[in-house]
Formats: sequence, C-alpha cells, structure tokens
Amino acid sequence: MKMVGLPAGEEVPAFGIGTWRMGDDARTRAEEIATLRLALELGARLIDTAEMYGEGRAESLIVEAIGDRRDEAFIVSKVYPHNASRKGAVAACDRSLKRLGTDRIDLYLLHWRGTIPLEETIGAFVALRDAGKIRHFGVSNFDVDDMEELWAIPGGSEIATNQVLYNLSRRGAEWALLPWLRKRRVPMMAYSPVEQGRLLDDGKLSQFARAHQMTPAQAALGWLLAKDDVIVIPKTGNRERLKENLGALEQPLTKEQLGELERLFPPPKGPQGLEML
Ligand code: NAP
Repeated sequence: MKMVGLPAGEEVPAFGIGTWRMGDDARTRAEEIATLRLALELGARLIDTAEMYGEGRAESLIVEAIGDRRDEAFIVSKVYPHNASRKGAVAACDRSLKRLGTDRIDLYLLHWRGTIPLEETIGAFVALRDAGKIRHFGVSNFDVDDMEELWAIPGGSEIATNQVLYNLSRRGAEWALLPWLRKRRVPMMAYSPVEQGRLLDDGKLSQFARAHQMTPAQAALGWLLAKDDVIVIPKTGNRERLKENLGALEQPLTKEQLGELERLFPPPKGPQGLEML
C-alpha cells in the first residue's frame, strides 16, 4: 500500500474508503459490510465517516464491519459545524465513539466551517487529543482564507489534513490551497475522487481509459494517487468495484499518461476557489 505521511510523523494509507450513504439501505447493507472488511484485508484500512452520514448510521455500520480488527483500521470521523463548540464537540465525539464501538477516533475533522469560533473547536480538539479520545485532528472544506485564520489560532497549525473536493473535473483546490498546504507539509484528503460516479461517464475519460487498458475509475484515482501528499477516499459499497478501484495502485500512471490527462482536464487558468459538495 502506498503511504502518506501525516505532519506528526505517522504514515497512513494513500487509499482509503468513504462511507457516505452506507447503511442507508437495508438491501445493500451486507455487501457494504463485506466491502469494508475486504478494504481492511487489502490494506485500504483508512475509513472515512462522519456523524452526519445517515445521522450516525454509517458509523454504526463500520463497527459491524471491522469487528475485532479495530487496531488495523484508521478511522476518520467528522463533527458537524453546529456541534463544534468547546463542549459540543466533546459530546459529539463521545456519541461517535459509542456508535463506532471504540475508545478512540484516529482523525477527527471539523466537517465544514460554521459560525462557532475556530478557537473553541480547536480547543475542544486539543482537549480530546489530550484525553486520548482522538489521535489527530483536522479540518474539511477549508479554503486558504480559512486556513490562514486557523493557522493563527493556538493549536491550529497542528492539523493533520484538510479534506476537500478534488478530482480531475474539480481542480479548484490546485489554484491556491494545494500549494499553501504543501508549503506547510499538510497532506490533502481528496473526497468525491470520482465525482460521485459522474466522472466515470465522461467521454474523454472513458476514451483515455480504453486506450490505456484501464477503467475510468482507475484513471481518475491513478491521477490523484500520482501525488505524494494526497489521500483518496473513494466510496464503494461493492467488493468488485473496490478491487477495481484498488487496481489504480497496481498500475501507476506514467508521465506520458499523466500529461495526456492534464491536456484533457486542464488545471485552473486563473484564481479559483474551493468547491464543496
Ligand atoms: P465518490 O467516492 O467520488 O463516488 C462514490 C460513488 O461512485 C458511489 O455511488 C459509488 O457507487 C460509485 N463508484 C465508486 N467506484 C466506482 C466504480 N469503480 N465504478 C462505478 N461506480 C463507482 O463520492 P463520495 O462518496 O462523495 O466521496 C467519497 C467519500 O468522501 C465519501 O463517501 C465521504 O466519506 C467523503 N466525503 C466528504 C465530504 C466532506 O464534506 N468532507 C463530502 C463528500 C464526500 P457504489 O457504492 O455502488 O460502488
């Protein structure tokens, strides 16, 4: 498994699995659980979730999937902005821990910027870390102006990641945010890496993938995985598609293939902000 270093020194898999909408449909539950178990077995042991996903249903599904293999998993969860006060974040974390059936969350993120002062949220995150309930903390959907503010707050520069929308068709993060994070050695976590499936129907991507004997998902994920400081968290609740997606690691894209994708999906040509789903 390709690894990405967190600022604190720990290495995490560059390929994890997202869980948004898992646990929502009883008919797909068994396959989702089997997919998460397979992900652990195949080394994609970073599992991304949030208290928001199914209002806790995704977190509850994870505990069923990982069972007694908790120590192998690196669990990322997120607090709602409206819960991210000094006391609220601690209470939300306790609820997530209970649903996840564990005594610690490996990485706890503020899901997006809300109205509660960042000082409060970061204060709560530091207290949670000191108490051993979370191991690392970070943010999500933060653009450069938010990052600047965060950096000025005590503890703010200790974040482990910023999780943002980033894929071949959404390259806004590259204009200012990615260089900003790189300068400070903070890895980026790319969510919706296949644009929730929509990118896979793109004619240019399909043609590229066909020409290079890979699938569109492998091409889209391979492009992200070519970056040393980006973690990808594609969601799939299907074992076959998980294996397909992991295939992106077996056949890294060549310089020429990456160049072709740059031409097909050009980077931003002018100032562009971060988008959010
Ligand atoms: P995504 O991973 O880009 O796409 C997931 C969708 O693509 C699912 O419908 C999945 O269907 C399908 N899919 C995956 N691999 C496929 C393949 N090889 N062939 C065909 N279809 C495929 O979108 P996402 O779920 O929005 O993003 C990933 C994760 O990032 C989320 O699950 C969540 O954990 C996180 N996220 C975070 C935020 C945030 O604000 N921080 C926002 C969005 C997402 P099947 O399951 O049926 O395979």
